[in-house]
Amino acid sequence: LVPRLRPFTSTIFAEMTALAVRTDAINLGQGFPDTDGPAGMLEAAREALFGGANQYPPGPGRPELRAAIARHRARYGTHYDPDSEILVTAGATEAIAASLLALTQPGDEVLVIEPYYDSYAASVAMAGAERKVVPLVSDGGRFALDTEALRAAVTDRTRAILVNSPHNPTGTVFTRDELAAIARVCVDNDLIAITDEVYEHLVFDGGEHIPLATLPGMASRTVSISSAGKSFNCTGWKIGWVCATPELVAAVKAAKQFLTFVSGGPLQPAVAYALEHELDWVERLRLSLQHKRDRLSEGLRAAGFDVWPSAGTYFVCADVRPLGFRDAAELAWRLPETIGVAAVPVSVFTDNSEPWKHVLRFAFCKRDDVLEEAISRLHKLI
Ligand code: PMP
Ligand code: GLN
Repeated sequence: LVPRLRPFTSTIFAEMTALAVRTDAINLGQGFPDTDGPAGMLEAAREALFGGANQYPPGPGRPELRAAIARHRARYGTHYDPDSEILVTAGATEAIAASLLALTQPGDEVLVIEPYYDSYAASVAMAGAERKVVPLVSDGGRFALDTEALRAAVTDRTRAILVNSPHNPTGTVFTRDELAAIARVCVDNDLIAITDEVYEHLVFDGGEHIPLATLPGMASRTVSISSAGKSFNCTGWKIGWVCATPELVAAVKAAKQFLTFVSGGPLQPAVAYALEHELDWVERLRLSLQHKRDRLSEGLRAAGFDVWPSAGTYFVCADVRPLGFRDAAELAWRLPETIGVAAVPVSVFTDNSEPWKHVLRFAFCKRDDVLEEAISRLHKLI
């Protein structure tokens, strides 16, 4: 294995899920739902499977899916031409990797907000670029962007910034002010923004997802990425997309077409159907996840953790120190065996692990009975 990929031989999700399976623990580590998406979407996939949609779809994605993505994106007031400004990818993961491969190169620095989703570091490394982290800081009960640190991190080698909101693992949803600070840095320094918006629909308490591309000066320099997995409970389908200017989409396509060329042929029309017809289902999902967020947060507090409020995503973060533990990673590796619950230590998503050493991430995207059982098991820690 080449040196630049040596830090990436395994993922926390693969390891923690394997441990959860081995110990028969409830898996609140890897974020995936344990119920299916809307029946109409599943039916549309079946019709496509039996209706002959089993060969290569067009390189940029099936036209009805690109049209549905454009209409969906128009909800934010952004308008993309389905033919030149939208590209379907193998999940957001490929979209992120292809964007970095197409737009960054050795010698470039990429700003990454810490803690960061694990694929970012690996994809920056595959592109041969260097990541430079900008921390979130615990501020008034939420994790906020350190905008001073953001400005200070820019050098004459900085080429791009990866922005994930709603944010995995903290559940932070960036405010308009935080996004405006990012936009200002991008415009002032001629940076490209690559936004990971896979949790765009999973924002709670009346909060709002604001795509960075909608801020002044950003439409021309933002590669907006999302996917179907989290909105429609189909994380295994890996249907994602990129929305950007024709120039940026053409660049990302150059990389994407030699990574997978195309993928998910019969699933593409089903996701098109879901984007067009199942947003009421997504709203019910959002409300149910908000309730699950409340229930798990309460349960963790009752079990002795300090819990940061989560404003979106599948995840809530908890401080293990009130229970007398110091090292959340060490605890995470023991929890499945000792009490039958798996979680992930947030330090694995960081370069500077110190401020995160005592933080665990729990996923609440599980059936209510599963969450209740997990909560009762967590009480054994007291
Ligand atoms: N970004 C974030 C922040 C995620 O949590 C995930 C994981 N589910 C992904 C990207 C990957 O998305 P996809 O499954 O569409 O590749
Ligand atoms: N996005 C999911 C999480 O953060 C996991 C995805 C994966 O297993 N790679 O838990």
